[in-house]
Amino acid sequence: GLFGPPDDPADMKPRPPVVTVMGHVDHGKTSLLDALRQTDVVAREAGGITQHIGAYQVELEGGRKITFLDTPGHAAFTQMRARGAQVTDIVVLVVAADDSIMPQTVEAISHARAAGVPIIVAINKIDRPDADPQRVRTDLLQHEIQVESLGGDVQDVEVSALKKQNLDGLLEAILLQAELLELKANPDRAAEGSVVEARLDKGRGPVATFLIQRGALKRGDVVVVGSEWGKIRALIDERGQQLSQALPAQPVEVLGLDGVPEPGDRFAVVESEARAREIAEYRQRKKREKASAKTAG
Ligand code: GDP
Repeated sequence: GLFGPPDDPADMKPRPPVVTVMGHVDHGKTSLLDALRQTDVVAREAGGITQHIGAYQVELEGGRKITFLDTPGHAAFTQMRARGAQVTDIVVLVVAADDSIMPQTVEAISHARAAGVPIIVAINKIDRPDADPQRVRTDLLQHEIQVESLGGDVQDVEVSALKKQNLDGLLEAILLQAELLELKANPDRAAEGSVVEARLDKGRGPVATFLIQRGALKRGDVVVVGSEWGKIRALIDERGQQLSQALPAQPVEVLGLDGVPEPGDRFAVVESEARAREIAEYRQRKKREKASAKTAG
């Protein structure tokens, strides 16, 4: 197959966790992602995270990093999973303290379960006078989520995305959960990963955000991604800076693809442009055959 052999355990190095924020509409996913973005210590010096690329990495005091998929809503999560891309290590379940469990909260819980991904509950809007965080905890019991204070092992953190209260507590909980997961990847091999977002840019052509899952992606690498291929012309991070390489759990915008891949498509570095073209053409042919079989049937 296209995807390389498993790595020698000796080559595996710790990597940052990849986090998806899920929850009911209006419970504060977007606000929380915006607030967390501002905890990045590098951004404070370098003028901030300047562009939306579908994911961002924050660096905390002491150099620890967390990657957030910046695609709120459950569609992206399910679409990626449907394409076989398992990119999320931890789900942060946002529940508004004034509203408690709602239909999309339940939906998010079942998505996280189906993916086998641990949940951290962020009880949001704690600043509101009608906030009732204890009700959230007890309501969660009906969905088999038992937080630590009620004798379970699910971490819960009270936050206010709006007032930026206790974001440190949430980041700590994520780092603790990540430690328990012992996340590792081999950074010294040809890169593989998944597409987070992709679009056609008028000036720059196809632009895709890749999440690196193994290895290091470098400028000049030749990749196959879904049924497209390309020679990586530029790697750009969420601060708009050009990189020479991107490492495991790092999201990066790539230029140089011949077409626009789809979220959840896998990418892998291959040895030559000829090989990349061959694989991409084969996949495009398969795709056309499938499409015409559908019309015929
Ligand atoms: P999403 O639909 O889950 O992405 O929710 P948003 O982030 O768009 O937030 C929905 C509304 O709740 C907006 O009006 C936010 O300003 C508000 N909101 C989000 N977080 C908080 C919070 O911590 N406290 C209060 N009082 N309002 C919040």
